[in-house]
Amino acid sequence: MRVLGIETSCDETGVAVYDGADGLLAHQLHSQVDSHAIYGGVVPEIASRDHIRKLAPLVEAALAEADCDGSAIDGVAYTAGPGLVGALLVGASLGRSLAWAWGVPALGVHHMEGHLLAPRLEPDPPDFPFLALLVSGGHSMLVAVEGLGRYRTLGQSIDDAAGEAFDKTAKLLGLPYPGGPALAELAAGGRPGRFDFPRPLTRKPGLDFSFSGLKTAVAYALRDAPDEPGLAADIARDFEQAMVDTLALKCRRALRQTGLKRLVVAGGVGANRRLRAALAELAEGEGVSLHFPRPAFCTDNGAMIAYAGYCRLAAGESVGPEISVRARWRLDELKPPGDALGC
Ligand code: ATP
Ligand code: MG
Ligand code: FE
Repeated sequence: MRVLGIETSCDETGVAVYDGADGLLAHQLHSQVDSHAIYGGVVPEIASRDHIRKLAPLVEAALAEADCDGSAIDGVAYTAGPGLVGALLVGASLGRSLAWAWGVPALGVHHMEGHLLAPRLEPDPPDFPFLALLVSGGHSMLVAVEGLGRYRTLGQSIDDAAGEAFDKTAKLLGLPYPGGPALAELAAGGRPGRFDFPRPLTRKPGLDFSFSGLKTAVAYALRDAPDEPGLAADIARDFEQAMVDTLALKCRRALRQTGLKRLVVAGGVGANRRLRAALAELAEGEGVSLHFPRPAFCTDNGAMIAYAGYCRLAAGESVGPEISVRARWRLDELKPPGDALGC
């Protein structure tokens, strides 16, 4: 079965073709970062309009890259939520309509299920069950994944998401949007150990996260430290370390608590090099295997939607003729498809 996947939940337009026998045949991405950067964040109306402009040409480019046309597509998957409603509607409208025109089933995919399954596109795909650390712009979650659509949330952020904490802290440091990668780059030149930032909620039992206090600690450090060259880099370095330590500690706790033997990391913050290194060390120490998507598939992309859509479409799941999207949609509301094939 060959599936066209469409991602438009936020500020990336992604289109991909995934084939059950041949794997990923094409993936195309247009990032809107430049359109939103001057506003310091994503402007929903600009996002919707840009998806409208870029989506159809990207579908054509993806089909050309896969060396096929619509007649070779057996199903269409699009992100149906959570995300910006206007942006989601662009992908859902085109995806649903193409499926209608081609006479094939369509499916609305949960964006976080896409992130969660993305490591399974890589050469050493994790088998079920596994523990997933999902750290993106809008989510920070630890999830026990028993199979496709069988997700149990073990912990989540009670305030800012991990990516949001990176972005807000980057803004405090005067870095351009999106802040995560810029902060990581600045941190690489910083001296460690100057600031003792908190590791929130690590002394209490439990697997929830809280990152807003960490951001406030950075604001105080900026206010109180003497303004000298390298200050921003030193703060970035210790902030990044506090984030990494906190995430790694909760992963260790969740692994020990669940006894799961595979750790999967996904979402934009999963592209962070220091986090990847810390988790590699943790996995080795705990005797578990570690699985990441390639950095380009940590952030939003069409490939993860094509793949998650394939898994469910191949099991016989599809939607009716309506076009519907959801701004909010909890991951553990998902169910396995009736007749799960080997995804
Ligand atoms: P969600 O998936 O929760 O709806 P989103 O789609 O906006 O949110 P992603 O695209 O998965 O989020 O990830 C983007 C986030 O990842 C941003 O907050 C960005 O700053 C962060 N990020 C990307 N690269 C890095 C990095 N190298 N280090 C730290 N953070 C990063
Ligand atoms: Mg994005
Ligand atoms: Fe995302």
